[in-house]
Amino acid sequence: MAIVEVAGIPIGSLDKLVIMAGPCAVESRDQVFRIAESVKGAGADFLRGGAFKPRTRGREWEGLQERGLDYLAQASEQFEIPVVTEILSENDIGMFQKYGVALFQIGARNAQNQTLLNAVSKAGVPALLKNGMNTSDKEWMGSASRFLPENLVLCMRGRNYDTEIGRNALDLIALAHYRQEGKHPIVVDPSHSSGKRNLVYDVSIGAVAAGAHGLIIETHDDPMIARTDGAQSVTPKQLAMIVKDARAEHARYVESADRRQAFMDVTIPEWATIYMKQPQLEALAGFLAGQEVKPYVPHRGTNTDVVVSRVSMGKLGKMRKAGFAIGRLHHLHGELPHVEAVNIKITGHDTIRLSPYQADAIHARGGTTSLDRGQFTHRYDMLHGYGDTVRKAFQTWEHLEALPRIPLVLYRPLKG
Ligand code: PEP
Ligand code: MN
Repeated sequence: MAIVEVAGIPIGSLDKLVIMAGPCAVESRDQVFRIAESVKGAGADFLRGGAFKPRTRGREWEGLQERGLDYLAQASEQFEIPVVTEILSENDIGMFQKYGVALFQIGARNAQNQTLLNAVSKAGVPALLKNGMNTSDKEWMGSASRFLPENLVLCMRGRNYDTEIGRNALDLIALAHYRQEGKHPIVVDPSHSSGKRNLVYDVSIGAVAAGAHGLIIETHDDPMIARTDGAQSVTPKQLAMIVKDARAEHARYVESADRRQAFMDVTIPEWATIYMKQPQLEALAGFLAGQEVKPYVPHRGTNTDVVVSRVSMGKLGKMRKAGFAIGRLHHLHGELPHVEAVNIKITGHDTIRLSPYQADAIHARGGTTSLDRGQFTHRYDMLHGYGDTVRKAFQTWEHLEALPRIPLVLYRPLKG
């Protein structure tokens, strides 16, 4: 993954959580100065603030525009904090550069504006590309592909969805995926996704726990009178709490890198040794094509007609779908005496398939309804997926011998 260096701050490195904070919109020089000072004090790395405001409903205030950029530039200089702000038009690139904008935000409404994307990319300035309100991941990555990796940071701000709860749906799965496998650093916007101040803390911490490289958080010292997005803006005091706890969460994420890797390195068995009765081979032939089938030779005892082969776990799953009883063998000593299964119809219940191992267990118990787990655990484990039903069968059991027998395949996973 590329590390995007913006104003000397690396975005996308393992050990740095980047915090961007500030108002939704630059409203006045005073406002941006007050907030810049407090977000810097809270530990933010970037000052955000919209000078050019895209509006969803039209005919609304569109921001202070160039004057807003000027205030941002002044606040940036005064409090030594670089600026991230949204660019709406390719015609403004020169103006943004003149005011020293460090990171060019491309908002949700322009996530697929190829003229703007191409122009910003061509200017070679670092960009923060939000996902569109309804863009698919593929479409979003299509937009991202217009940039050099060293110039692009992604920002997840949630997608439209039908709910009364939040504002947009933030895809935790995509976040974890982009962190693990994406090409670009990924910043999460808990403000535009949640839409509600009281959700911003949890969403921020959750995003960091799932791998976000940074957060962009709308912060206002008077959210109730903010000109835009007050309902989702946190106060500077709240921002300080988020920054502190998000950095602690991030430290945990960094520390758990080895565990995360170990988790991903765990392999699952892909192949199994299977045991069947010779007479069942015909029914199983379609699954065993090309596989060697040998007699099973137990270490102890004398076996009769058990054969052994090897199949992929996928094949085994198909055998189960085709109606064979699949039993997992936990312990294999000596003989496999009754490698068959039976169907049992319990009045008022489904038909279940029960291997004679269970049947033997029941007979051995003289028809008792009690369960002796210690003695039989590995036995009823042997009927894959039917543990509960088998347990019931212990209690309602009748006429085993009269029931039809179906092929049973016993398997032992081969270490992955
Ligand atoms: C913003 O950051 O204030 C903004 C308009 O965001 P978005 O493009 O995600 O709606
Ligand atoms: Mn906003």
